[in-house]
Amino acid sequence: MRDNASMLNPHFQKLQTAYIFPIIERKLLELQKDHPNQKIFNLGVGDISLPLLPEIAKAISDATYQMTQEPIGYGPCGGYPFLKEIICHNEYAPFGVTPDEIFISDGTNTDASSIQELFDQQTTVLVTEPTYPVYRDANLIAGKKVEFLQLTEKEGFIPRPPKERADLVYLCTPCNPTGVTMNREELSHWIDWARQNKSILVLDNVYNAFISSEDIPSSIYALEGAKEVAIELRSFSKWAGFTGLRCSYMIIPKQLHLEQLNQLWAKRMDIKTNGISYPIQKGAAVCYDKSVKEKLQNQVAMYQKSSIILRETLHTLDQTFFGGEHSPYIWWKTPSQKNSWEFFDELLEGSRIISIPGSGFGKQGEGYVRLSCFVSPSLAQEAAYALQHHFAAV
Ligand code: PLP
Repeated sequence: MRDNASMLNPHFQKLQTAYIFPIIERKLLELQKDHPNQKIFNLGVGDISLPLLPEIAKAISDATYQMTQEPIGYGPCGGYPFLKEIICHNEYAPFGVTPDEIFISDGTNTDASSIQELFDQQTTVLVTEPTYPVYRDANLIAGKKVEFLQLTEKEGFIPRPPKERADLVYLCTPCNPTGVTMNREELSHWIDWARQNKSILVLDNVYNAFISSEDIPSSIYALEGAKEVAIELRSFSKWAGFTGLRCSYMIIPKQLHLEQLNQLWAKRMDIKTNGISYPIQKGAAVCYDKSVKEKLQNQVAMYQKSSIILRETLHTLDQTFFGGEHSPYIWWKTPSQKNSWEFFDELLEGSRIISIPGSGFGKQGEGYVRLSCFVSPSLAQEAAYALQHHFAAV
């Protein structure tokens, strides 16, 4: 007879034990208890801070009401054709992506962590350090072999293809946590490398709406050869305020050198999900109506304004930082070689700013903190004053 412990998935033991968010929460509660009247500036969690657009809520509620008039039950597991076609037309028309290459899901976290299921257990997975932790942890608990690509300040935290090959590579651009974005040339190097090595790139592109330069492709499929090697992940979470609604999509091109992946994912979806609800997909579709899209672009522009305020402040304070230009995150090198938690405490006590210690994104994040710009420009401005005040005092 097996003992209870041996029935559990042993790979969970490979996860980092200290999960940072409960520690941040405890420190915040202590500060609020000691200084109940002080305003706290939460530049930590990367969640949206603007309410949902009423047009989206109406589309969702109209679709729900429609279900009282006619039976609308299970939909296609990989998403309704109306949403896939709208995405193709609005996002991918110049790149020739077809609706049967698009799979609708409940979030990029789900997609990023599940795609590895299509690969053999011996698969080598390459993840950057620092990284968005989901890629690393989902592959670790699935028992995959995870290797790390160290990102360095010298390289501006841009990931460069390594000498050794890997089967599956996770790349995030615009990147959480470093805020840096890969340009055409940098992405093309990865495409060439993946073609030579017969690797598959999983490109997390959830912050694409923050890109505002011609030199940075909004999709990897703008580049030659990408359809042979790259799967792209997008979400309605950040640009359309869907973090609480849940809707995302993944592009699995039929031209991939592993051409079975498209069919295998379709099969996997048939087995494991009955799809995303009809009202939520209607809500996602309305995001592409001209006037709604413009309002959503204005929301992103507001977050970008906050990012400019914070970047300019750090610049004036002579700080070293990365990102924030085509992404909602600023990766701030701690002054005087303080470690991430020491500087987190200093910011919290001295400026009442909550950041995220870089060490929470892997060892290579030590010595940095991440600031999120998902706040209003007025809050960013107040936080900027608090920072100026604090740095003048130290
Ligand atoms: N990918 C990255 C890089 C993220 O930063 C986040 C959320 O912070 C997600 C995925 C989660 O996306 P979703 O809400 O679609 O699951």
